[in-house]
Amino acid sequence: EHIFNDRRNSRGLNFNLHSEAAPFFAQSVHFAQTQWHAAPLIGGEIRSGDKTVAITNPFDRSAVGSVIYSNSKQIEEALVRATAAFVTWRSSDVELRAQALEKLADLLELNRIELICLCTREAGKSIPDGVDEVREAVDFCRYYAQQARTMMASDPTLPGPTGELNLLYTQGRGTFLCISPWNFPLAIFLGQIAAALVTGNCVIAKPAEQTNLVAFRATQLAHQAGIPCDVLQLLPGIGSQIGPILCADERINGVCFTGSSATAKQINRTLAARDGAIVPLVAETGGQNAMLVDSSSLPEQVITDVIHSAFQSAGQRCSALRVLYIQEDVAPRMLSLLKGAMAQLSVGDPSLLSTDVGPVIDSSAKAKLETHIDVITKEGELIAQSMIPSDLKGHFVSPTAVKIDSIAQLKEEHFGPVLHVITYPANRLPLIIDEINATGFGLTLGIHSRNESLALQIANSVNVGNAYINRNQIGAVVGVQPFGGQGLSGTGPKAGGPHYLTRFITEKTISNNI
Ligand code: GLU
Repeated sequence: EHIFNDRRNSRGLNFNLHSEAAPFFAQSVHFAQTQWHAAPLIGGEIRSGDKTVAITNPFDRSAVGSVIYSNSKQIEEALVRATAAFVTWRSSDVELRAQALEKLADLLELNRIELICLCTREAGKSIPDGVDEVREAVDFCRYYAQQARTMMASDPTLPGPTGELNLLYTQGRGTFLCISPWNFPLAIFLGQIAAALVTGNCVIAKPAEQTNLVAFRATQLAHQAGIPCDVLQLLPGIGSQIGPILCADERINGVCFTGSSATAKQINRTLAARDGAIVPLVAETGGQNAMLVDSSSLPEQVITDVIHSAFQSAGQRCSALRVLYIQEDVAPRMLSLLKGAMAQLSVGDPSLLSTDVGPVIDSSAKAKLETHIDVITKEGELIAQSMIPSDLKGHFVSPTAVKIDSIAQLKEEHFGPVLHVITYPANRLPLIIDEINATGFGLTLGIHSRNESLALQIANSVNVGNAYINRNQIGAVVGVQPFGGQGLSGTGPKAGGPHYLTRFITEKTISNNI
């Protein structure tokens, strides 16, 4: 009965063990040469199309493969197939759906090395980030499988007057459109899909343009795990072209989106303007994430956590630290430690274990970040910038720390390795909390303090989804730190948390006066 409570999070890979490191490095030689190809996957068939695009490695612009974009006939066919498949899928046994996800988790672990190498070559992910990517995808599959069993396996009988039987049934809603980001090409791609599938929905997946290859491999593995071909289909394409067509179509019964706040609002408007049903949007969007460091905190610990929070994954996480507040009494010491740590960062080839910071995703991301760095270092004052080896050909942005006066100077989220620093006198703390809340974002918050009651008071007064005390503020773990924000940062419910699946179902009460 209770064996489902034995679920454990995936272990990942331990490079300190020869037995795990050796096969990784042996196989990665092969996957360093592989070319992958992605295409629309409709009814389980790989389709050809009118437009093929080459995919290059953000690290050195070498070829990784190609993708075929979906055309409008294919979009229509996918919708027809999904609508028809829903009729049987919605009444399938939740146990069968949960087991398919668990099989998918096993297949992800079995193909882990390929997936890590692919994340590195297509998305510029460091090896540890690639390991975490697979681990989180596995955890999402197993966690949602377990949650769905609890939520859907038996229909609870509710109390009622004698002679009346009240039952609450849950069911999938129809076809979900899952629009996923490039910064977690496997974990978020599959997290959205797993949640929709296990609750009895069909899925049309539209992955980010930058990471179609990872999405394609993951979809193939899902089919191999037993997800029916019409129940999960993949439509690669340009988001701004395909997205509006799909969102406007009444056969889409829900949208799950991770990306920018502006796009989330646009999706919401498109959904609202449709005739017919009111459909749910689950959106996980950006942040303007702060960390508050007071004079009681431990400097070495602070700096380690700042470096991770701001620069791991080249700052390309929506959870990443953007604005570091340091109490002015300790600022000189903290800043000198920060400079020292930034000088040690190794920026370069993400396929080397010794690399801390890889490239950003593409040339347009690099250009935007560099423009921001130019502007903000003129307004503020440059604190430190890590060195980049001069022979790098890829999309590299130096990890940068810059002193500014106020968080209000930042008009948008800057999605990369740029850390803004503000020093404050202790008596300004209440104003700072107001300023952070005034950004309207509410994703993550870091607090470093040994004054526990103050730390908890700050955690309670800043409107965020995830507050972290005396640790880094990235890398939420499935089932441990349910992840997602409020306000401009997202709609909830939280990914990897016990309420996430509720947005993917409809409920029906049948009152039977027998
Ligand atoms: N869940 C990730 C973390 O906690 C961030 C997800 C995102 O960047 O969208 O770091």
